[in-house]
Amino acid sequence: MRSGRREIVVVGGSVAATTACDALRQEGHDGPITVLSEEAYAPYVRPPLSKAVLKGTEGAESVFMSALPAGVTLRTGARAASLDTARRRVLLADGEEVPYDGLVLATGARARRLGTSLGERVVRDLDDALALRDRLATARSAVIVGGGFLGMEIASSARSLGVEVTVVDRDPHLVRQFGRDLAARMAAAATAEGVRLVRDEDGVELLGDREITGVRTGSGAVHEADVVITAVGCRPNVEWLDGTGLATPAGVTVDSRCRVRPDIVAAGDLAARPHGPAGPRRTPHWANALDQARSAAAALVRGDEAPVHRPRPFFWTEQWGLDIKIAGEIRPGTELSVLDGSLRDADALLQWTLDGRPVAAGTVNRRVPVGRLHRLAATEPVPAA
Ligand SMILES: Cc1cc2nc3c(=O)[nH]c(=O)nc-3n(C[C@H](O)[C@H](O)[C@H](O)COP(=O)(O)OP(=O)(O)OC[C@H]3O[C@@H](n4cnc5c(N)ncnc54)[C@H](O)[C@@H]3O)c2cc1C
Repeated sequence: MRSGRREIVVVGGSVAATTACDALRQEGHDGPITVLSEEAYAPYVRPPLSKAVLKGTEGAESVFMSALPAGVTLRTGARAASLDTARRRVLLADGEEVPYDGLVLATGARARRLGTSLGERVVRDLDDALALRDRLATARSAVIVGGGFLGMEIASSARSLGVEVTVVDRDPHLVRQFGRDLAARMAAAATAEGVRLVRDEDGVELLGDREITGVRTGSGAVHEADVVITAVGCRPNVEWLDGTGLATPAGVTVDSRCRVRPDIVAAGDLAARPHGPAGPRRTPHWANALDQARSAAAALVRGDEAPVHRPRPFFWTEQWGLDIKIAGEIRPGTELSVLDGSLRDADALLQWTLDGRPVAAGTVNRRVPVGRLHRLAATEPVPAA
């Protein structure tokens, strides 16, 4: 797409959307940009919602992002309802049509829910976090369904408020994302804080209706609590693209430059990259949203001359006093080496290998430049001497 005074519309109001706006300006697009966000709020960051905001150590005002670049019009409360690719129009829920020359799809994801009850609590947006923070202030007990990084962060925050916490999962807690050894260290930290980790391969059923009062596991055990929160993954927000052929329930599949078509790009939690025989895969992490949004903006402005997107997986979590950063992917069958420090002392530099080759690296309570972690994970080439 040629740049200049062409109108670019960005649909979505979070980090992929705002990063795309910054990157479009850096790429030299000086025409108008309109951001359509369904949220009532200006763009904010989600990672603190399950951490400092839930604990109450940071207020809601701390999560808002800095201002968008000059010439960007932010429209909050503007929900895209459908897309007409032939006429290049985004149709809003109120019937308004917004024309575009270039389009960025950045509608992210929402929490996957186990049931249909409005009483099922999740932590996906600012209102979820503020409502849960207020509820935890008077709750004595909480059950969290889902022992991945998000469920365990919520558990850690709730426990720090003095709430009795049980975390139920069908898989071993944290193992899928952190591998067996690091997950065991994190789980030990949780149990040392008095948290109960329950595993039931048959999953759970939520009990109650308007307010969920507990869960029944597949083995029949009932865990009641004042608050029940589910943290069982996320679903891409793609329904507004129905009928365009651009999306599947698994997300919007992009090419090696984050393009969907020459005039449409996608980035962040809704974008799925081709991933071998298993098919396209989303990477719902903060750093991925940043990287993809930059690649997508470059592709919209420069077309085939834009660099190919090189994924550099990176994510972090904070729980139980452990500040953990991971570059690369800890796949099944990887072996962990502690390069320095020790897991027991919660101070370590880590590397995972698969068939003798590095695939991931991480830190526990250590400051190491992200570039170094990527080099240890072999997700970034070692610079020439
Ligand atoms: C509580 C929480 C904690 C997290 N912690 C970490 C962490 O520690 N480390 C990490 O790496 N990642 C973390 N993540 C993941 C990270 O926040 C996401 O990967 C990131 O927010 C994805 O950004 P996005 O812009 O693609 O999508 P989202 O953040 O999902 O934003 C999409 C935006 O589009 C809007 N939208 C949706 N549909 C429409 C529509 N039809 N029309 C208009 N607007 C629409 C939504 O309202 C939303 O504002 C966390 C996520 C959550 C929820």
